[in-house]
Amino acid sequence: MKRIFCSLFAFVVLCVGSLASASYTNILRVGLAYSSTAVSVANLINSSGFSIGVMNDTTFTGSQSTSETTLKITYANNTYLVQGLSGQTIYSVSGENIAVRPISGTTTYDGYNYYGDFVFKAESSGKLTVINYVNIEDYVKGVLPYEMSASWPIEALKAQAVCARSFALGNLNKHKAYGFDLCNTTNCQVYHGTERADSNSNDAVDQTKGQILMADGKLATGYFFSSSGGATENNENVWGGTPISYLRGVKDIYEDASASSYNVWSVTLTADQITSKLKSAGYSIGTVADVKVTKRTEMDNVNEVTVTDTSGKSVTIKNGSVRTVFGLNSIRYTINGSSILTGSSGSGGLWVNDSQITDSGLYAIGAGGNKAYIGSVSGKTALTGSGKQTISISSSNDSGNVNVASGSYVFSGTGWGHSVGMSQYGARSMANMGFSYSDILKFYYTGITISQM
Ligand SMILES: [Zn+2]
Repeated sequence: MKRIFCSLFAFVVLCVGSLASASYTNILRVGLAYSSTAVSVANLINSSGFSIGVMNDTTFTGSQSTSETTLKITYANNTYLVQGLSGQTIYSVSGENIAVRPISGTTTYDGYNYYGDFVFKAESSGKLTVINYVNIEDYVKGVLPYEMSASWPIEALKAQAVCARSFALGNLNKHKAYGFDLCNTTNCQVYHGTERADSNSNDAVDQTKGQILMADGKLATGYFFSSSGGATENNENVWGGTPISYLRGVKDIYEDASASSYNVWSVTLTADQITSKLKSAGYSIGTVADVKVTKRTEMDNVNEVTVTDTSGKSVTIKNGSVRTVFGLNSIRYTINGSSILTGSSGSGGLWVNDSQITDSGLYAIGAGGNKAYIGSVSGKTALTGSGKQTISISSSNDSGNVNVASGSYVFSGTGWGHSVGMSQYGARSMANMGFSYSDILKFYYTGITISQM
């Protein structure tokens, strides 16, 4: 009933057009233990004591208060049991989700301190799902320092805080099957209560209290990543699917990629390693003979890589797979290198198919280790014409086996991460240059507004 009212209220406000604010819940349900991490016993510690009762939607109703500072919650025979430190029964209830609210302050659970309430739900295994019902501002204070170093400039932290808040609201009910919104791992956002919060990160949350990203009248999800290396990218060029208005690639004129050593990178892969990575990703390909960037985006990021094998067959890797399939840091790179051509030895020399001849530096190796270069390399054998052709390997060993030798490819790039949305290193650079968090968000998210939730 409450949700219907909120939705209706938001609708009326938008129709009247007098306010730009939307209406969202202030309370998030964050899963701290569930499924494989569900617990048999949950211990809560709070020096002020607790109220114990039930939670309906996000409304807590207390049935009993206790000054006991340590509670032990278990479930057996369809009954939730709350015991004190010495094992005495404080409360028990059947068939309902049990909720515990501290009288004040933070509560210690599993070594971390949390604001808010705790709800326990028995799973079919008999173990307990543990859920922290927490105000969204306290939640954002918890996650912010796990996403960006709290030592970074305040305007960058404020931009990240608005992203984190928007992300949370955009993922309500993500873990509905277990009765909560967000989990506490990188699957959603890392959250261990107040563990890493400090005055700098808390200030960033307080100074942006309730602020979220909006685009086209709707909540915008604040996707972010570490470093653009020069340009961010359109969402559809990375994840496929429909273009999203605020996730447009931008030339990143602010980020200083060299600010972090890992933002400039180089990876060398042998032809065999590339073959293996492609096969692991489900592509059907033989021994790799050539690897090339065959399409770039308007932002000059890599959009397609074509890999050709020694039989002339090729596969084209597209979108974000150009990073993930090869295990690279970003989609912004060049490829240099060559494979050593392999062919079949035949009468009079080594046979290769001319479709394999894609680079002037390619060469074959005979069993004696002698190289026969193909193409226009000075002083080496040149091939012309079409179809299968013969080259001679100038050794006595050319009629034997041909080594299937691997070449190698050097992927040299800048940036780190998926490239969609805000670059965190870019946000840091902009903040250091004097830009505000609003400037930062509007630079990385095309056409967004910052609204009060
Ligand atoms: Zn999750």
